[in-house]
Amino acid sequence: MTDRVIALVDAGRRKPLPPAASSSTGVARDRLARPLRDLRISVTDRCNFRCTYCMPKEVFGKDYPYLAHSALLSFEEITRLAKIFVDHGVEKIRLTGGEPLLRRNVERLVEMLAAITLPEGRGIELTLTTNGSLLAKKARALKDAGLHRVTVSLDALDDATFMAMNDADFPVAKVLAGIDAADAAGLAPVKINMVVKRGVNEHSILPMARRFKGTDHVLRFIEFMDVGATNGWRMDDVIASREIIDMIDAHMPLETIDPNYPGEVAKRWRYRDGSGEIGVISSVTQAFCRSCTRARISTEGMLYTCLFATSGYDFRALLRAEKSDAEIGAAIAAVWGARDDRYSEIRTAETAKQRKIEMSYIGG
Ligand code: SAM
Repeated sequence: MTDRVIALVDAGRRKPLPPAASSSTGVARDRLARPLRDLRISVTDRCNFRCTYCMPKEVFGKDYPYLAHSALLSFEEITRLAKIFVDHGVEKIRLTGGEPLLRRNVERLVEMLAAITLPEGRGIELTLTTNGSLLAKKARALKDAGLHRVTVSLDALDDATFMAMNDADFPVAKVLAGIDAADAAGLAPVKINMVVKRGVNEHSILPMARRFKGTDHVLRFIEFMDVGATNGWRMDDVIASREIIDMIDAHMPLETIDPNYPGEVAKRWRYRDGSGEIGVISSVTQAFCRSCTRARISTEGMLYTCLFATSGYDFRALLRAEKSDAEIGAAIAAVWGARDDRYSEIRTAETAKQRKIEMSYIGG
C-alpha cells in the first residue's frame, strides 16, 4: 500500500488553460485526431462501499476530507456545462462518482440532462454507473426522469468474496435485486462490471458468467487498473482479458462480435449457442487509447482528459466567473485540441506510482 494520499485537487494540480482556440462549435478533435464524444460526470466523491481496489478503508476512513457541498457543481452548473460539451461533439453522458445515487435528488439532474438535444435534434444518450446498493429503490424514478441505461458493478456472487472486496458488509442479494429492478424499469440492457483481481476473485469468473448467460444483461470483465494512487496496484495482480476469455471459452464456447460503435471500450464476445454476450475491458493488456473519446468532469468541476491524469483544468472557476457559453466552449475546444494523453499505452511499473487523481473523485 502506498502512503496516504489526499485525493482533493490542490492548486498545484490545476493546469492553466491552453490559449483559447476559436469559439465556434462543432466536434472537437485532439492532437491524435480523436473526436470528443463522451462525457463522464462525477456527481459525488462519496461512496458507501470501500472497494479495496478503489477506495480502500485505510485511506478513505472516517476522517477523510470529502468535498464540501458548496464545492460541488450544482445541477444547474452541470447541465449548463453538459450543454456546451454537446455543442462540441459530446453525444453520450454517463453519471458516475463516487456512488452517484448518493447525490441527493440525482433524479432531478437526470431529468435536466435528459432534456438536452444534439445539434441535429435527437436526445443525448444518458447512462449511469452504480454499485447497485440503492438501485432497487431508485430504478423506476431514474427511468421516469429519462435515464436510458445503467451499469452495475458486481465483483462476485458469493458474499464472502463480495464483502471482502466491497469492505462494507454489503450482500450480493441486494445488488442482484437492484439489477432486477433496473431491468424491470426498462433501464436495459443492464451492463454488469466485474473487476477481476488475481488471488481475490478469479474463482468468481465462471459463476458470474453462468449466472448472467441466458439473460439480456451484458457482463463485462475489467482488468484491475492502476487508477489513483492508493490501491497498491501491481501488474502481478492483473488477470489479462485473454486469460478470462480462454477460461470461459473452455466451458461455454465464445466468438467475437463487432463493436456497437467506434471507440467502444469493451471488446464484445457472444456465446456460440446464442445465449447472450459478454465483454472485456482491457485497459492494461490491450490499451484502447487510440480510440478514446472520453472527457471527465470531477465532482467539483475539474476537466480531465484521461482517467489516469495527474492534473486537470478548473471549469468551476469559469462557470463561477460568469464566463459566457462561448468562452467556456472555446476553453473546452482548447483543452481537447491540446490533448495527447495515451497513458495506458505508455504504462510501466514506474508510471503506475505517479500521484494520479483518485477514481472516486475523477469518476469511473
Ligand atoms: N460507485 C459506482 C460503481 O461502483 O459502479 C461508480 C463509480 S466506480 C469508480 C466505477 C467503476 O470503476 C466500477 O465498475 C468499479 O468497479 C471500477 N473500478 C474502480 N476502481 C477500479 C480499478 N482499480 N480497476 C478497474 N476498475 C475499477
